[in-house]
Amino acid sequence: MLHIALFPCLSDNYGFLIHDSESGQTATIDTPDGNAITAALEARGWNLTAIWNTHHHFDHTGHNLSLAARYDCPIIGPGHDAKRIPGLTQGVRDGDVFKLGSHDVHVLETPGHTDGHIIFHIPDAHDGAGAAFVGDTIFIMGCGRLFEGTPAQMYESMRKIEALPHSTTLYCAHEYTLSNADFAKTVEPDNRAMLDYIKTAEDLRAKGRPTVPTTVARELSINPFMRANTPEKLGEIRRAKDKF
Ligand SMILES: [Zn+2]
Repeated sequence: MLHIALFPCLSDNYGFLIHDSESGQTATIDTPDGNAITAALEARGWNLTAIWNTHHHFDHTGHNLSLAARYDCPIIGPGHDAKRIPGLTQGVRDGDVFKLGSHDVHVLETPGHTDGHIIFHIPDAHDGAGAAFVGDTIFIMGCGRLFEGTPAQMYESMRKIEALPHSTTLYCAHEYTLSNADFAKTVEPDNRAMLDYIKTAEDLRAKGRPTVPTTVARELSINPFMRANTPEKLGEIRRAKDKF
């Protein structure tokens, strides 16, 4: 059975651990904060056996080397961006499948935020509903800034997420939900599902709870970047958000 732990770190990042109770293997998704990751492992009695990186940004790879040294574990990340992933031991590409215990982990390349961004999809997590660690590709009601990619690339990345089973749980790497909501309302002021969800999110945040994870189904109903029906429209919304 797979267990996923989520914990806030840095100013607005989330750290994630995924643990397979049969094999005892545990991966961290990205390395935003070495101390927070070590504390989360120790609190659960888990031993780190792999680091999985979504993309090269420092708040995702900054503690790769110290954690790999401490736990003597491999680092799996985007082969397309091998030179920018500290300590990378296994570069993976779109369509690659590797294992966590007996569970398949599928790699999808989702460029846009960075050139080499990847996401990790585990179809049999959560009793078959599936989970995906999406890094900075998609956020609740948002998407990553296009630092290195084009609107067309991000549009295609959204289509890859849309092609996952819609029950798939999406683990976004930042808590940006309420600030994304302020912008999303200006794009779709009459989107009832969005307005209802924003109330739920405000309630969660008022209680100090994370809004992450979300699901593919929810983002298809509330996320203006996911709902943009052409690459041009996505680009237009992204430029407006950058200035918002
Ligand atoms: Zn990033």
